[in-house]
Amino acid sequence: MEQRITVEITKRDKPELKKEEKQDRAPSGVSSNAISCTKCGTPIDLKDLEKNWFCCPQCDFHMPLSARKRIELLVDPGSFSEFGEKWTSTDPLNFFDLKSYQDRINDIRAETGVKEAMICGRATISDHPVVLCVMDFAFMGGSMGCVVGEKFVRAVDIAIEERRPLIVFTTSGGARMQEGILSLMQMAKTTCAVQRLETEKIPYISVLANPTTGGVLASFALQADVILAEPEALICFTGPSVIKQTIG
Ligand SMILES: [Zn+2]
Repeated sequence: MEQRITVEITKRDKPELKKEEKQDRAPSGVSSNAISCTKCGTPIDLKDLEKNWFCCPQCDFHMPLSARKRIELLVDPGSFSEFGEKWTSTDPLNFFDLKSYQDRINDIRAETGVKEAMICGRATISDHPVVLCVMDFAFMGGSMGCVVGEKFVRAVDIAIEERRPLIVFTTSGGARMQEGILSLMQMAKTTCAVQRLETEKIPYISVLANPTTGGVLASFALQADVILAEPEALICFTGPSVIKQTIG
C-alpha cells in the first residue's frame, strides 16, 4: 500500500527525463508517463488519470492521492490556509527500530515533502467556509501520533469558534507505535473533541479513503454525522495481512 502511494508522489515530483532515457526505462507496452491501475492493471496515462480525478477510467477504482493533491482537487483555488504545519513529534520513548524515530521522520519529510500524516486548514468549497483535515498515507502509513491528535483537536476548536463545518479525509494504518501509549491516548482525545462538536451542533463529515484502519477508524473516522467512503476502500480495524500473520 505504501508503495502504491509513493508511486503517485514520485511521479509528480521527479524531474523530466530526456526522450531517449524515457524509451530506455519504459517497460514494454507501457509508456513511462503511465501507471497501472491497482485493481484492474490497465495502464493509464498520468494526464488522463489527473483529468479523471485520479479514478481509473476503466474500472473507476480510486487511486491513492497525496493530501496536497486531494486538497487541490477539492477546495476553491487559493482558499486553503494551513495551520499547525510546523508542529512536530517529540520522541518520548527514544524509539529505535532500524533507525531512530527522529531520523525516520526526517527521512520521510525529505523524501516526500510531507511534514506530518495530517494536513489541516481553513478553506472554502464552492464558497462555503469549512475546516479541513486531510490525512496522507505516504507519511508513516498515515499513522496517528500526538501531532495528528493535536491538529484534529485544534481543527475542532476552530470549527466551533468560527461556526464552520469540519470535513476530514482519513487514510491510516492506525496508531503510531513509535509513540507508544501516547498514540493510543489520541483516540480518547479526538473522541472527546468530536463530542464537543455534537454539543455545539457543528456538522462533522468524514470521508474514509483507502485504507482506513486501526485507531483512526476506531476513533474520529467513524464518529461523524455523515460518513462517506471511497468505493472499495479497505475499511477495517485490523488489516488482512496482520490477521494472516496472527492466525495463519
Ligand atoms: Zn482500473
